Amino acid sequence: MNTHFLSIKALDTPFYHFLAVLLISFLPATLLNAATPPDLGSSDLIEYNIELEQELGRAFTTALHTQYNLNYDPEVVAYIRKIGHEMASQIGEFRPFRFYVIDNPSINAFAGPNGVIGIHTGLISAAKSEDELAAVIAHEIAHVTQNHLSRGHETNSKRSNINTFATLLAAILIGMHDSSAVYPTLIAGMSLDIEQQLKNSRLHESEADHIGIQFLSQAGYNPHAMSQFFNRLAKASQSNTSQIPEILRSHPVTERRIAEADNRAQNLPTHAPKKINNDLTLIQLKLKQKTPSLTNSPSPLTANEQCYQNALKKSPPLSKPVNLQCLQTLVKNNPNHILYTTQLLQAVVQHHPSPNLIRFANRQADYLMALYPKNTALLIHYSNLLLHQNNDEKAIYLLKTHTQNQRYTYQTYKKLSEIYAKKDQTAEAYYFLALAQFNIGNLKRTQYLLKQAKTSASTNLQQKISLFEHKNGKLLKDKQITIP
Ligand SMILES: [Zn+2]
Repeated sequence: MNTHFLSIKALDTPFYHFLAVLLISFLPATLLNAATPPDLGSSDLIEYNIELEQELGRAFTTALHTQYNLNYDPEVVAYIRKIGHEMASQIGEFRPFRFYVIDNPSINAFAGPNGVIGIHTGLISAAKSEDELAAVIAHEIAHVTQNHLSRGHETNSKRSNINTFATLLAAILIGMHDSSAVYPTLIAGMSLDIEQQLKNSRLHESEADHIGIQFLSQAGYNPHAMSQFFNRLAKASQSNTSQIPEILRSHPVTERRIAEADNRAQNLPTHAPKKINNDLTLIQLKLKQKTPSLTNSPSPLTANEQCYQNALKKSPPLSKPVNLQCLQTLVKNNPNHILYTTQLLQAVVQHHPSPNLIRFANRQADYLMALYPKNTALLIHYSNLLLHQNNDEKAIYLLKTHTQNQRYTYQTYKKLSEIYAKKDQTAEAYYFLALAQFNIGNLKRTQYLLKQAKTSASTNLQQKISLFEHKNGKLLKDKQITIP
């Protein structure tokens, strides 16, 4: 009986193990110097270590950004990252977790190498509460804290194949690859003890449930949310078999698993409930606006939420204009609600409102930036407003000031690069694009862009580049020797 109900596919299926086997069986022969036949099982395999895990994490992150539809909506990613990082800190985990959102309607989530966690937009849309969404995030965090993925690849990864391996891993985790047709045939030809591997992955899933529910409770969420969510998904898929969620298709929810999750939840202490907010509803409205085919739309909306939904519309010339008055009142009455303010900032850029409203939006953005200097969504939308008003200098100042020491700098550095490109300051544009690429682990691209920047950089920028190269010399140098 298959007891999985939430999966990271790589762990639950033979595909991951197939990949590992594929890499050690085929790739060395094709990618490496043919004069050096691979010697599986001895010195040719380097041992798993933290550096290898980090390198795999970087290659995986690069693959996500370069080959898949990531969702870059600053508010959507900020929302998921807030849940993920708050949970990680509440459970006392200080690993370098990174949360990304995949634009994919399937109900799925995964944990990749080195703490990279992916959440599909389909999953965000299907959750009925933040607790349910947090339950999936907790399960994925548990896969990371229990080192499930690295336990699997510790003997099978070869440094020289990191990029290929990470790319294939991403393909399988995201599930866009039509794996079903090709892989089983190949697996069948190999003497791999799949049964044993699957047994391990079942243990991993069970452990991720068990530990994940504890995390959920520790972070102040309802520990019953995990069984609730999957129970509901399983029931919904029973009535419509053509729409079985991705995470249930290969790993059906069993009553036993739900009961186990419920039992565990029963025994966990009740923490003070999280402060109720409507962020999930608003985020779902945003996702639905962009991708109408996404399944679950939020339950009946309050007047405030209807006003927000109206403001999401793009207002083509002939349709009813967006009600900016309503949005302004919404922000006035809820000055600390970040999503209301970021929507106002976007509306001001799109709809050319009165000078009064523009002034109001600027004041409100200044006020919230002071309160939440680390909120990237606020930073990006405020910068856009400033650029819209031709106040490039302040936008640059804010972006530079608030991007330092942040975990996610890809979007803000890219924005800086775009601003400099428009101003024809090519060296700066290359420099900030290099920093953006560095943040997503794309070291080769980083090196190339730094080289480009150096050709026309001012003395000041040359110094900055040297400093950056000096600080990250080991990473950038290592990169040059890894591709066969
Ligand atoms: Zn799992």
